Amino acid sequence: MRRRSTRHGSLAAGVVLLALGAATASPPSFEELFVPRTLRIDLVQSGTASDHGWSLLRLSTEGAWAGPRRHLLDPHDLGGARVVLLDASSGERIYSRSFSSLFDEWLATGEARQDRRRAMTETIRVPCPRAPVDLLIEARDDDGFSEVFRWPVDPRAALPPAPAPAAHETVVIRPGPPRARAVDLLIVGDGYPDRQREKFRRDAARLVDALLAIAPFRDRQDLFGVTALRITGRGLGPVEPRKGLFPPAALTAFDTFGSPRYLLPFTGSRLQDLAGAVPHDLLVVMVNAARYGGGGLFGGATVFTADGEYPEALFIHEFGHSLAGLADEYFSSQVAYEDFYSPSRRPWEPNLSASARRDALPWADLVDPATPLPTPDLPAFDGVVGAFEGAGYVARGLFRPWRRCRMRDKGAAEFCPVCRRALAARLDFLADRPLKPAGTARGPKERTQFTVERRMLTRLFRPDFGPFAEVWRARRGQTPRYLRCTIASERAYTFFAPRWTQ
Ligand SMILES: [Zn+2]
Repeated sequence: MRRRSTRHGSLAAGVVLLALGAATASPPSFEELFVPRTLRIDLVQSGTASDHGWSLLRLSTEGAWAGPRRHLLDPHDLGGARVVLLDASSGERIYSRSFSSLFDEWLATGEARQDRRRAMTETIRVPCPRAPVDLLIEARDDDGFSEVFRWPVDPRAALPPAPAPAAHETVVIRPGPPRARAVDLLIVGDGYPDRQREKFRRDAARLVDALLAIAPFRDRQDLFGVTALRITGRGLGPVEPRKGLFPPAALTAFDTFGSPRYLLPFTGSRLQDLAGAVPHDLLVVMVNAARYGGGGLFGGATVFTADGEYPEALFIHEFGHSLAGLADEYFSSQVAYEDFYSPSRRPWEPNLSASARRDALPWADLVDPATPLPTPDLPAFDGVVGAFEGAGYVARGLFRPWRRCRMRDKGAAEFCPVCRRALAARLDFLADRPLKPAGTARGPKERTQFTVERRMLTRLFRPDFGPFAEVWRARRGQTPRYLRCTIASERAYTFFAPRWTQ
């Protein structure tokens, strides 16, 4: 009996070992799949609202690959589209990255609804594969993403170098860690003539200081490497149709889709040639103009004017769009879109929900059980994560997580916890840091328990003070000494902390 059971035992152990062996066979490394250079893909997206597609314009090679080497597949899948590289022999996905295209945004404008036909360029950068791949563009639909374009790429065939940039000068604003572990930010200056070289340097440094002073960038300062690039010469500045200004080599343009303050890269401009001169993860275009304007598409360049109103706040807001695909949490301003979020365009943005039901909220894990949903838009709920109606350019039917986040109001003190989490996750992805599973980055474990004096409770958590009052009333019968609560806001916490003992 004993021998038999031993034999069975070792047989079982053998099976377990085999299974483990199969499970731990590590996937091919970056070095096995790619050469550490950048493959630049220029595409054109064209057509009408009802009939449109992608075409290849050009494939070329650039310098070093600045992106992640461990996180080769995009873990977040935001945006309206995704680029995918499939190993041609195995059919395995070896690389993916989600993004939003300018053309997809145009589809929500009145011009597109009149069945007009337009074309816009899109530049995508991927690591250069060692072996033949199929390059796919996938578009978001009801079931996720599906293939809308495919092109075989054989890297053994000679690929031309990307167009060389015009005369330019680079300044290292902030040396970062080695590229593979850094968030490499490239700031391109638009409209800075040689005589304003010093202003360019100062503007770029001021911008980076402002960004790194706010959460979650503040806690991840060490990840950032920042280079600024200026075109030498006269400095031309953006296209401004309402002033009749059309500089022949402009990089950016106001009045995108007819909205005066919507400033974006000028489609088909030399911007991407310039950007190719410095390996980067994120591209920022700083425009030397006093007029207010900016814009940012997920995965694309962040554009803003350096001398308009609140330039740093404007930049940080637009950066939220480009880095983490955050939606605008406002609904009162004039924008170029009509029904941007129609029933056929469900929000994918991390800070937007089409329902206030607890189980449908993408940020449900950050909502205190006592918080009413939808959450009343009243000062009592300042600093409370809930579901506030009005966001994404509409007053009804879409919900935002906070009353006043940076994505709603550029003058707000900070990003809401939902936006902070999304931004931090994207930074960790770009810097190749370990990723937290979605939805648990700030779960119940990170709630803080405070001992609160009863007289403090009555002062702080008055019955009209919202969810905290409900927590208090619910526990009153037990005369609690401990009150479990989420922190209303960082400022409130700092202010009251000396009276509380943890
Ligand atoms: Zn927010």
